[in-house]
Amino acid sequence: MDPLETSLPLRDQPICVAGEWRRGRGDRYASVYPADGSVSAELNAASADDAREAVERAQQAFVATDWARRRPHERARVLHRVADAIRARREDLAQWQRRDNGKPINETRALVDSAAGTFQFFGSACETLEDQLTPMRGDQLTMSVHEPMGVVAAITPWNSPIASEAQKMAPALAAGNAVVVKPAEITPLMALALARICEEAGVPRGMVSVLPGKGSVVGDVLVKHPLVRRVSFTGGTVTGRAIAHAAAEKMMPVSLELGGKSPTMVFDDCDIDHAVAGVLFGIFSSSGESCIAGSRLFVQKGLYARFMERLVAGARALRIGDPVSERTQMGPLVSHAHRESIERHVARALADGGRLLAGGERPTGAGRERGCYYTPTIFEGLANDSALCREEVFGPVLAALPFDDEDDLIAQANDSVYALAAGIWTRDYRRAWRVARAVAAGTVWINTYKQFSISTPFGGWRDSGIGREKGRLGILAYMEQKSLYWGMNAAPLPWCA
Ligand code: NAD
Repeated sequence: MDPLETSLPLRDQPICVAGEWRRGRGDRYASVYPADGSVSAELNAASADDAREAVERAQQAFVATDWARRRPHERARVLHRVADAIRARREDLAQWQRRDNGKPINETRALVDSAAGTFQFFGSACETLEDQLTPMRGDQLTMSVHEPMGVVAAITPWNSPIASEAQKMAPALAAGNAVVVKPAEITPLMALALARICEEAGVPRGMVSVLPGKGSVVGDVLVKHPLVRRVSFTGGTVTGRAIAHAAAEKMMPVSLELGGKSPTMVFDDCDIDHAVAGVLFGIFSSSGESCIAGSRLFVQKGLYARFMERLVAGARALRIGDPVSERTQMGPLVSHAHRESIERHVARALADGGRLLAGGERPTGAGRERGCYYTPTIFEGLANDSALCREEVFGPVLAALPFDDEDDLIAQANDSVYALAAGIWTRDYRRAWRVARAVAAGTVWINTYKQFSISTPFGGWRDSGIGREKGRLGILAYMEQKSLYWGMNAAPLPWCA
C-alpha cells in the first residue's frame, strides 16, 4: 500500500522495518482525526521485536550499502531529490498532516514546506562540510575528520510531526547514518510518508525505518539497544530525563528537545499592534500545542490595562474551527485526553485565585461537538510561582503578569526550570539587547515571535533540553570526530634511540 495515497481511511497501514513494508507485530490501533473523531488510519503498532529487528537490519544496511561511503555531494543529490519530492506532494502531505493531529491546513502546508527546506539545507550542508587540518606542533601532520555513527534513532512527538521528523532524518542521513524513526503513536503517517519518499529518491533500502508504537515499548528498545549509537529526542521533559538516564548507562550521546514555559516581555514603548499580534500568535497558534508557546506574559505596569484590553479582544476574535478552512486560526487539540489535561490546569489556576479574562471553556457551535476544541484562555492574578506559571500546559492557556522594571522582569522571567525561548517587545534597541542577553533561553525573539530558520541552531537550556538541532553544523551531532596524526619524521621516534 502506498502510504501517500490520499484516500482515507487507510485500513491496514504498514510500518517500515529497514525497508520492508509490513504489518507491525504490536497492538492494533487507529489514528483518529481530532476534528471529528473519524479514523484516518488503522494499523498494527511496531512491537519490541520489530524494533530490535529494525535496528539489527539497519546496522546491516549501514555496513552493506554504500550510503556511508558515498561522497558527500552524492548523498546531497539524493537529499535534494527528497526535498523536491516533498514539494511535489505538498498538498497530499499537508492534508495528511492535518488529519494526523488536527492542525489547520495553512499551518500544515507551512510544516511541509519547512520539511522540504530541511532536506535541501542538510543536503547542501553535507556537501560543504569541511574537515580540519590542525596546526602542526611536531613532526606530524594533524587532522580532525568526521565519520557517521551507524544506526541513530529519532523519537518524535505529535505536535509537528513532519517538521520534527525531517529535522532529525535529514541531518542523520546527510551524515551517512541509518535512521530508525519512532513517531508518536497517535501521529504515525508523516514519518511513514517520509520513509517512502526517501526510498523513491534513492536512499538505499534499510537505511530508513519507521516504527509507530508505544514509547514505553518501541522507544525503550531503541534507546537501550547497543547498536543504536545516538538518540535524537523531541518530547516532554519527564521522558527526556528517562532517556538521558538510559543513555548514561551505555555512554551514548543524546540530544533532547524538551518542554518550555516561555516568557514574553512587553515594554511600555512597544508597537502595540505588533506586540498584540505577536503575543496572540505566540501562545494561540497551533492551539498552544507548541514547545515554544509564549505561555507567560509579562507586561510593564504602565501599559498593562490598555494592553490586556486589546489582547483579550484579540483572543475572543480568533477563529476556532474546521482545520480544512484556510480562515481557521485554531483547530482542535490533539485528543480528548489532552483537552482534559488542559482543563485540569485551568481548574487548578482558578483554585489558585486566577481571574479568567477570556476562554476557559469548550467552544459550542456547529461542527465542534465531536472535536477536541478549546477556547483561547487568558488568566491574570496568578503569581509567577503558581502551578500555571510553573508547569507546561501545552495548550491555549496564557498567564499574564504585570512587572515594574527590568530587574524585576528578568528575575521573574528566569525563575523557571525551563529555558527554551523568550520574546521581547520594545522599540529601545539597547534595552532589547540587555534583556535578550540577560534572559535564560535557547532562542530569543525581538519584536517577533515563533519564527524559524533552518540555518539557525535551536534547543533549550535547563529542563528544556540538551544539544542543538538545525544550523549548518547540526549535521556534526550525527557524526563522530576522529583525529589523524601522520608521521612526517625522517628518523625513527627518538625514544628508541
Ligand atoms: P512525550 O515525551 O510523551 O513523547 C514524545 C515521544 O517519546 C513519543 O514518540 C513517545 O512515544 C516517546 N516516548 C515516550 N516514552 C518513552 C520512553 N520511555 N522511551 C523512549 N521513547 C518514549 O511527549 P509528547 O506528549 O508526545 O509531546 C509533547 C512534549 O514535547 C511537550 O512537552 C513539548 O514541549 C515537547 N516538545 C518539545 C519540542 C522542542 O523542540 N523542544 C518540540 C515539540 C514538542
